[in-house]
Amino acid sequence: MLLKSLAGLFSHDLAIDLGTANTLVYRRGDGLVCSEPSVVAVSDSGDGRGQRVLAVGHAAKEMLGRTPGSIRAIRPIKDGVIADFEVTEAMLRYFIARAHNRRIVARPRIVVCVPPCITSVEKRAVRESALSAGAREVFLIEEPMAAAIGAGLDVTAPAGNMVVDIGGGTTDVAVISLSGIVTSRSIRTGGDTMDEAIVNYVRRKYNMLIGERTAENVKLNIGSAWSQSESAAMEIKGRDLVAGIPKVVVTTTEEIRDALVEPLHAIIETVHLTLEKTPPELAADIVDRGIMLVGGGSLIQDLDQVLREETKLPIVRSEDPYTAVVHGAGEALDRISLLREVALA
Ligand code: ADP
Ligand code: MG
Repeated sequence: MLLKSLAGLFSHDLAIDLGTANTLVYRRGDGLVCSEPSVVAVSDSGDGRGQRVLAVGHAAKEMLGRTPGSIRAIRPIKDGVIADFEVTEAMLRYFIARAHNRRIVARPRIVVCVPPCITSVEKRAVRESALSAGAREVFLIEEPMAAAIGAGLDVTAPAGNMVVDIGGGTTDVAVISLSGIVTSRSIRTGGDTMDEAIVNYVRRKYNMLIGERTAENVKLNIGSAWSQSESAAMEIKGRDLVAGIPKVVVTTTEEIRDALVEPLHAIIETVHLTLEKTPPELAADIVDRGIMLVGGGSLIQDLDQVLREETKLPIVRSEDPYTAVVHGAGEALDRISLLREVALA
């Protein structure tokens, strides 16, 4: 106990998965210490001096769609890129303070996971945000690399591994070998796109408007990617677009699968296109090793079945798709030689 708390005093290095939907923080020696939505609520000061941060994380997500005029709930990471630097920095600062539990600690080393194909301008911005949020030293790791480490793949071996990360805003498909990303592809389709597709489907089919959080609930509860999944039904509430009053309808797994055809097709197509671009030796490795699925969006029921049918390859869902990225980055934090090998220059 004493040893552990002493270690806690000295090892305060952090790994941060800055996702479009959720931010997760791993503290060296303690594991996962924080997991909250990537949302910031700001109020415009009105005196032209910019915006004031009111809440971050869970508290800010509660405000999404429920704010009065002067307050905005912002998701600073959009489509896998930092859309708002100032707000991202405020968010990083909050998460770093949370991870340190308000203890006074020396400036930590921080590993931040970033989308693949990040530009050098974006890289510099993330580094500077982390430094000004209190980091002593910043390392950047590409999310698919971190996910592969977190899912237990040997990324340093001369063998091809394919990782498919379905997040909130994006899906990233990458082939990794010898500590580097050999080929990758990203699309702006992810769990959020599925929610929007459900909103649109319900509007067309039932003339009813539902909120995105309702759509997400439907997806989590009865959504499925596969035509042979067991069927379920669920009541959903929304506003009738003709009569203008609230109403309730019952939707089913089959309907939601129809609603999800387009986003699922886009994901499958991206896997195919990445496989086509993969050098033959690595493609041969993938035939044996299969494709690793990570990210919250990969939890949609029976997605692995569909991908198995479409690619005829072995499909493995990582044990904890939500935390694979942050755990991989945390492992790199523990093994500095690995970190130096996989970190971006
Ligand atoms: P990011 O890395 O972009 O922050 P996450 O990996 O945290 O994203 O995944 C968030 C997405 O996962 C959300 O769109 C959420 O609705 C979706 N998700 C979470 N659980 C499930 C589930 N059981 N079925 C389908 N989608 C899910
Ligand atoms: Mg992610």
